[in-house]
Amino acid sequence: MDNISIVLNKCVGCKSCEQICPRQCIVMETNHEGFWYPIVDNDKCVKCHLCLKACPVMHPENHRNEPQSAWALRNKNDFEIMKSASGGASDLAAKVILNQDGIVYGAAYDDFLAVRHIEITQNSEREKLQSSKYVQSDTASCYSKAKKRLAEGRVVLFTGTPCQIAGLYSYLGKEDPNLYTIDLICHGVPSPKFFQKYLEYQSRKIGEQIISYNFRSKDKRGWGTQFLFKTQHKSKTNTLSLDRYGKHFIQGDCYRESCYQCIYANLKRTGDLTIGDFWGVFNSHPDFFSSKGVSCVFINTLKGQVLFEMIKDFAYTEKITLEESLIKQGNLRQPSRRPSNRDEFYSHIDECEYMDQLYVGLQLKERVKAAIPVRIIHLLKRLEKIIQL
Ligand SMILES: Cc1cc2nc3c(=O)[nH]c(=O)nc-3n(C[C@H](O)[C@H](O)[C@H](O)COP(=O)(O)OP(=O)(O)OC[C@H]3O[C@@H](n4cnc5c(N)ncnc54)[C@H](O)[C@@H]3O)c2cc1C
Ligand code: SF4
Ligand code: SF4
Ligand code: SF4
Repeated sequence: MDNISIVLNKCVGCKSCEQICPRQCIVMETNHEGFWYPIVDNDKCVKCHLCLKACPVMHPENHRNEPQSAWALRNKNDFEIMKSASGGASDLAAKVILNQDGIVYGAAYDDFLAVRHIEITQNSEREKLQSSKYVQSDTASCYSKAKKRLAEGRVVLFTGTPCQIAGLYSYLGKEDPNLYTIDLICHGVPSPKFFQKYLEYQSRKIGEQIISYNFRSKDKRGWGTQFLFKTQHKSKTNTLSLDRYGKHFIQGDCYRESCYQCIYANLKRTGDLTIGDFWGVFNSHPDFFSSKGVSCVFINTLKGQVLFEMIKDFAYTEKITLEESLIKQGNLRQPSRRPSNRDEFYSHIDECEYMDQLYVGLQLKERVKAAIPVRIIHLLKRLEKIIQL
């Protein structure tokens, strides 16, 4: 076959092919699990191969760079960092780009809490991109918008999962001095359909429509994995692993097929910077730890170095070793394991009782941990550290 149909389940759903096709004969359709895949109208296809050229799966070595240095980072501004998932590195990058009249692309919720990439031009919009949305984000038409902005001579920052950044570079087909990119450490994405089913389930249970959702709320227990959702009159917060959606996200039985064979789950990064949670900070740099969150940042390219220098003025930073950053980061070594129940996970998704049938289980360790006040946990960690010494 002479078009994108050959990519099959290696497809990461970046939508680059859909946006590049000069005949508009590619449509992204969701399969029964709710993940996007390209469908080609072969009658209209002129076999120009542009879709294959723009597909990141066909060019796995495109824009891959090994980290030159690694840093612990946290935003100095307490108000801003509390809205970010980890130390707010990505938000600071957005801030410095917007401050020079640049354009930023990243994942945001729409009015129905579907997650899609949007373009922002004002600092007041940064909040929309802050915090992790643990579901596949729809890149929509953001690659073509970014291309247009670059052609206008604007500075652009594009943030996303490593495959989305790879998709952008394949779509553009060439380097642009005004383009900065950030890829996130990524262990996989559940389908938007699963997230919508979950929101409907929770809304039904609580008796009101959910109007906001945060996978990484720091309100109650600080930096960690607590979700918080709100309806008009109520709110609910808990540990992700004790939640029907969160548990399966962490367990990894609901990811897109490409995530289990992810070619980006290693130290050859697609972005100028790579950002993740610096989970190992308590062990290697206890004095840098903050319950407000700490990011781990890799500088992968010269442009990444330039962007990092701009961010540094607004942040506390400390150089770390690559080994330290790898602690609790399995996805920098290998893709998430495909659990045996992945085959069945989505098979009943269209049934009314689907969400009710997903069990959280006893999860004793997690429940005990969730019941202990955070300051006691931090105290215990410090004691453990002293004993180790
Ligand atoms: C699906 C997913 C899996 C992840 N897995 C890991 C992991 O295994 N280990 C780890 O250390 N970190 C992981 N992260 C990254 C981590 O959760 C934080 O997003 C990261 O540390 C950035 O934090 P921050 O405080 O710098 O960013 P913030 O200031 O909170 O900004 C959030 C950034 O994330 C982007 N973003 C949010 N949701 C999505 C999405 N669905 N798709 C694409 N981009 C998105 C936004 O565009 C924004 O740039 C994952 C993130 C996602 C979205
Ligand atoms: S080969 Fe060309 S015309 Fe055919 S689907 Fe791909 S981009 Fe479109
Ligand atoms: S990976 Fe992206 S470009 Fe390739 S087939 Fe899938 S959606 Fe199209
Ligand atoms: S695990 Fe890999 S394929 Fe899946 S969303 Fe993340 S970067 Fe993309």
